[in-house]
Amino acid sequence: QARKRFGQNFLNDDAIIGRIVAAISPDNDHTMVEIGPGLGAITEPVAERIDRLNVVELDKDLVERLQSHPFLSSKLAIHQGDALKFDFSQLIEPGKTMKVFGNLPYNISTPLMFHLFEYAEHIANMHFMLQKEVVLRLSAAPGNKAYGRLSVMAQYHCQVIPVLEVPPGCFVPPPKVDSAVVRLVPHQTNPHPCDNLAKLHHVVSTAFNMRRKTLRNNLKKLFSDQDFEELSIDASLRPEQISVAQYVALANRLESR
Ligand code: SAM
Repeated sequence: QARKRFGQNFLNDDAIIGRIVAAISPDNDHTMVEIGPGLGAITEPVAERIDRLNVVELDKDLVERLQSHPFLSSKLAIHQGDALKFDFSQLIEPGKTMKVFGNLPYNISTPLMFHLFEYAEHIANMHFMLQKEVVLRLSAAPGNKAYGRLSVMAQYHCQVIPVLEVPPGCFVPPPKVDSAVVRLVPHQTNPHPCDNLAKLHHVVSTAFNMRRKTLRNNLKKLFSDQDFEELSIDASLRPEQISVAQYVALANRLESR
């Protein structure tokens, strides 16, 4: 019986599972980490290809099932707990980066991605099943209606690549929304490094406070017209019209004074 409060929608479509596993491309050269293995729909085919797989699962009953699974029990390092609070640094192995993946409970997907961005330098890539709408927001370019706080923050940390769309019928029980798999590849060297991430968060959320207002209006408590001029940013634009690099420039200006 799937538990609604744990966001349990179990994948049940071999063709889709095969495509997800191919995208993840499991190997022993990386520390492999799955969030929310559930009944093991993705866990099993991944574990077949590698020696060891770390899993983080909140539901104690599912953890017990995994522990007593004849094949998986020998392959898994099972961490029972909340992935949002999990210290992923305990999984870091010398000379290896992590490949992280999961069919996430949709109610925790955004905070979990932000939690994982903290370990970005130790992560080779991440593959997540998300609401399709969230994948559109993560990958949106400036000027697109879906471009917002999530796009800027995700693209600050990662290259964002939509991988495939997954209809509700591929899950048991079917979710109410369309889903999609996204690949997030943390930047090895950040093209626009920010001096203070908290300031970037602050500037971006303040800028997108009122999407229909101009940058000048949304950010008037933080920046003067002279600030915008010196950074060559047109203050009469709307928040969805400037780039990640321009948001970083604004945040760095705030940090520098
Ligand atoms: N991976 C399985 C699949 O594809 O069939 C299950 C996916 S289901 C959408 C989400 C899984 O995440 C469930 O097994 C659920 O118990 C687990 N989960 C929910 N909240 C969690 C949390 N905060 N930390 C870790 N796992 C969680």
